Amino acid sequence: GATVGILGGGQLGRMMANAGSAMGYRFVALDPTPDAPCGQVARQIVAAYDDREAAKELARRADVITYEFENVDAGVAAMLMEQSYVPQGSELLYTTQHRLREKRAIEAAGVRVAPYAEVRSADELREAVGRFGLPCVLKTATGGYDGKGQWVIRSESEIGEAFETLNRAGTELVVEQFIRFSKELSVIAARSTTGEIRTFPAAENIHVDNILHLSIVPARIDEALQREAERLAARIAEGLGAVGLIAVELFLTEGGELFVNELAPRPHNSGHYTMEACRTSQFEQHVRAICGLPLGDTALLTPVVMVNVLGEHVEPVLARIAKPDEAAERLGAAPKLHLYGKHEAKHKRKMGHVNVLADSVEQALEWISETNIWRV
Ligand code: ATP
Ligand code: MG
Ligand code: MG
Repeated sequence: GATVGILGGGQLGRMMANAGSAMGYRFVALDPTPDAPCGQVARQIVAAYDDREAAKELARRADVITYEFENVDAGVAAMLMEQSYVPQGSELLYTTQHRLREKRAIEAAGVRVAPYAEVRSADELREAVGRFGLPCVLKTATGGYDGKGQWVIRSESEIGEAFETLNRAGTELVVEQFIRFSKELSVIAARSTTGEIRTFPAAENIHVDNILHLSIVPARIDEALQREAERLAARIAEGLGAVGLIAVELFLTEGGELFVNELAPRPHNSGHYTMEACRTSQFEQHVRAICGLPLGDTALLTPVVMVNVLGEHVEPVLARIAKPDEAAERLGAAPKLHLYGKHEAKHKRKMGHVNVLADSVEQALEWISETNIWRV
């Protein structure tokens, strides 16, 4: 079988390697952390992500190269493209690494984003806030995750401080109108090297402290909206000429309007539910897409709620699964635990997740609440 090289060796790489190994592919990951989650199930080159020599070694050992995070150094991406096969190219990375480029590309694909403006000074920010109204969300154009690099501006008096704080290193900034969403959704689309596109069912996502807590599938919205969300994701995958997975985060308003929040050109935390709940997992689909295989059926097999296991949840979750689970029996829920093999269970760190399969999402949610592990 062919060897797939992954830039990054975290949990996304690990689950990709597990899915792809079952299909006969071999995996080698480049990651600076010794014994990284992916390194435990595949081979690993231990080196910094921007280490050119290590990237050359990855290119030598792999027939196909992919990545599990979007902040891949442009120089390394260019070098890998020269020395190996990178079906996803560098264009998609270039676009999704920068919020302004990303928003323009989404709009060019004919899909709406929250009203936004580039801001180069506190005065430009003040002007944009005047147009959009308060609150507004100021974001760094690059490098943000889990809500880091963001400031929700609630009063005019915060404008100067918000700008100075986020612009500290001369970072480019974008301000967005605050969308009073009724729900947050995400759809993962796959586009293969042959141009075939398939989307997974929309997930309803609930964040706690800006970190994904729950993905509920089917999303508790009517079916026409579910299909509309999937159509938008497919249009973005097509418009951006994506290869592999592209995750689309959306806001749904009370009035039934959908706005794209942001994209991720890789497997996404909100797609982990597919591992047991869909006929094809997002990880298998990604491997299929980049290796030019026909895409798999994305149909949902069962209602499911995915709940993230953060550092503080590991011990109670392990205690729970070590004993007969009366609540699961009674609710007809089947909780499936996935742990990523990270060594330090730090507070708020993503250590694993549980896919709770049940006859309804309400029963799955009831199991989660009865465990008393996730107190929110
Ligand atoms: P991720 O970990 O998903 O990459 P991130 O740091 O890139 O997160 P965003 O997804 O842009 O950040 O925003 C984090 C969360 O903040 C969103 O999921 C949403 O709940 C809220 N948020 C962001 N932008 C807006 C907005 N314009 N209006 C309302 N809420 C917003
Ligand atoms: Mg993000
Ligand atoms: Mg996000």
